[in-house]
Amino acid sequence: KSGFVALIGRPNVGKSTLMNHVVGRKVAIMSDKPQTTRNRIRGIFTDERGQIVFLDTPGIHKPKSKLGEHLVQTARAALEEVDLILLLVDAEEGMGPGDRFIIEHLKQVETPVFLVVNKIDRVHPDALLPLIDSYRRLYSFKEVVPISALQGNNTGTLVDLIFREL
Ligand code: GDP
Ligand code: MG
Repeated sequence: KSGFVALIGRPNVGKSTLMNHVVGRKVAIMSDKPQTTRNRIRGIFTDERGQIVFLDTPGIHKPKSKLGEHLVQTARAALEEVDLILLLVDAEEGMGPGDRFIIEHLKQVETPVFLVVNKIDRVHPDALLPLIDSYRRLYSFKEVVPISALQGNNTGTLVDLIFREL
């Protein structure tokens, strides 16, 4: 199995930390250089099940200009090209306008989306379910996966679920 997985989410939700944890030791390619395509390769995870190519797609931000609107269209098109989208959110910060804006745009993309709730090491377990419910009310995520990218909690499960989807 192999496929392309886009990592999206607000700055500081832990996208780089997740990549370092998942791809870090099994790295085939690690590149932060811009590529010619809309999607940049962040890292490739390989094991006996196959290969997952993680991509850094252009971020979706609230446009403040015509150029900004164009960039949002480009970001949406990039998300149509991948097999799966991981939307990372920050369990400690909770839901913000940036998350809501991204989710509104995901409704117009047909690619399946996993909600990855990161930094669970920073919150009480009782706070997690209400937070997940509030996200589920906005969008019907294919999977919801709580993780700590920093401590590596549940990141193996995330990889299992990605392979199941590819
Ligand atoms: P990015 O902007 O989405 O790439 O976010 P980074 O990976 O750079 O992480 C932003 C900050 O959050 C850094 O200080 C990380 O150490 C921290 N961080 C990332 N994941 C976790 C986590 O699971 N738990 C905690 N406590 N901190 C985290
Ligand atoms: Mg980063």
